Order: sequence, then structure tokens, then C-alpha cells
Amino acid sequence: SERPRVAVVTGTTSGIGRAVVENLAGQGIRVMAVDANPAGEAVAEAVGATFLEADLTDGEQCARVIGAAVERLGSVDILVNNAGIQHVADIEQFPPDKWRKIIDLMLTAPFLLTQACWPHMREKGWGRIINIASIHANVASPGKSAYVSAKHGLIGLTRTAALEGGEHGITANAICPAYVRTPLVERQIADQATLNRMDESDVIEKIMLSGAAIKRLIEPGEVASVVAYLASDQASAVTGADWAIDLGWTAR
Ligand code: NAD
Repeated sequence: SERPRVAVVTGTTSGIGRAVVENLAGQGIRVMAVDANPAGEAVAEAVGATFLEADLTDGEQCARVIGAAVERLGSVDILVNNAGIQHVADIEQFPPDKWRKIIDLMLTAPFLLTQACWPHMREKGWGRIINIASIHANVASPGKSAYVSAKHGLIGLTRTAALEGGEHGITANAICPAYVRTPLVERQIADQATLNRMDESDVIEKIMLSGAAIKRLIEPGEVASVVAYLASDQASAVTGADWAIDLGWTAR
């Protein structure tokens, strides 16, 4: 019998990452959940996943993540780069240290983790790299220069990894969701409601979903289902793709 596959998932204490850990662990995949917030330990252990505390804005901490997964779980077959943050300010006011933090966490960390996984996946001739990008990997919004730049860059990394991975059985894909119901978005809804003196439901419908054909938020589990598919054997022909889950936003 084959040994269970091992997945490393980042940003797992809440939101999309948490749903991904629950989905993969529920299928019997051995998961190492990685997060800067120590509260992630209880979240991971509740579904039988292993936890590693690491601040992925720090290159040295990124470097030890994959080594820890190999040591504790025996290998790494699936990497889900999910950890992310937002900061909203016009370019003129945007703090350069916030810019660097966002690029470090959301573009450099995925690169360093991909690099560290590569020899393990190449040796087995099988690997899955799944990058949680965003609709903001394909379109921009004012006030989100660092986030939009990191996510556009993540698509470039995904495509390059897909080309280099083809001959080694390693696929690399990005998922591009519109607004998902997570703490990251709930904070933005509350801020917009105060800023525009609107109800939260009006903020969702009139501001956040103005460009969407389907007027609702996406649930984290809906993103996790696509991650599960891309991580499976059935998805071996899918690589270099950016998979929209955007309620029709980019159809326009
Ligand atoms: P979230 O805030 O619920 O979760 C983010 C996780 O990342 C948290 O567990 C947090 O502790 C962790 N994290 C933050 N900084 C970290 C660091 N320095 N090192 C390690 N971990 C760190 O957010 P979410 O909405 O679930 O977002 C997850 C990903 O999905 C992000 O990359 C985000 O850009 C992307 N995304 C979210 C939405 C959305 O609408 N929520 C839409 C598109 C893409």
C-alpha cells in the first residue's frame, strides 16, 4: 500500500487555509499547518494535522519549514501557499515597510517554499504546488498596490514553476477567488461600512459585489474543494492555470 501523501499549507489559523487543512486532513492526507499565530496549533490538532509556528515574512523561517515537514512527516508532496495580509492606502501614502512585508509574505515566501520543496518532489516525479492568488492577480483595485502587485507576481511564479515542473511530474496552479467570507474580508466590510456610513449588507452588495454576476460571498470550503481537486491525481494535466472562483467578476 502507498504511504499517505504529505501537504504543507500556510496561513491556517482562519479562513481559506483553515478550510484547506480540514479538507485535506479529512481525506487522510498528512498535513503540516504553518502559521505565525500560535492559536493555529489548536485549530490544526482538532483535525489531526501537525502545526509549525513560523513567520513567513522571514526568509530564514521559510527555509526551515520544508525541512521540518520532511523530518516530522517523512516528505512533502503538496504545497499550498495561502498565508496573506492586506493593507489599503493610496500609493502616495503607502508605507514602504508595509509594501515589503506584503511582498515578503505573499511572493517571496511562496518562492522560497517552492524552491525548498522542489528536490523532494522531483525525486518522486510527483508534486503539486497550489498558490492562493486572488481576482487581484488579474485586475487591480485602487488602494491595494502591494497586494495587487504580489498577486500578479504570484501568477508569474506559478507559470514559471509549471514550465520547469512539467518534465518532473510537478504541477503548479493558482486559484483566483473574489471575496471569500473570512476574517480578512470581514474586517474590510466593517471598515467600508464606517467609511461610507452604510449597512454591512449594502457594503457587500453595492461596493464589494458591484462587478459580480452572483451577489454573495464565497465560502472558504468552496475554495478548499478546488485545492483538493488540483492536489489530486485526476488533475495531472492541469498546470500553469489560474482558476477563477470569482462569481463572474472577470467575465465582464
Ligand atoms: P485570513 O486572515 O483569514 O487568514 C490568513 C492567515 O495567514 C491567518 O491564519 C494568519 O495568521 C496567517 N498569516 C498572516 N501573516 C502571516 C505570517 N507573517 N506568517 C505566517 N502566517 C501568517 O485570510 P484569508 O481571507 O483566508 O486569506 C488567505 C489567502 O487567500 C490570502 O493569500 C489572501 O490574499 C487570499 N484571498 C482571500 C480572499 C478573500 O476574500 N478572503 C480573496 C482572494 C484571495
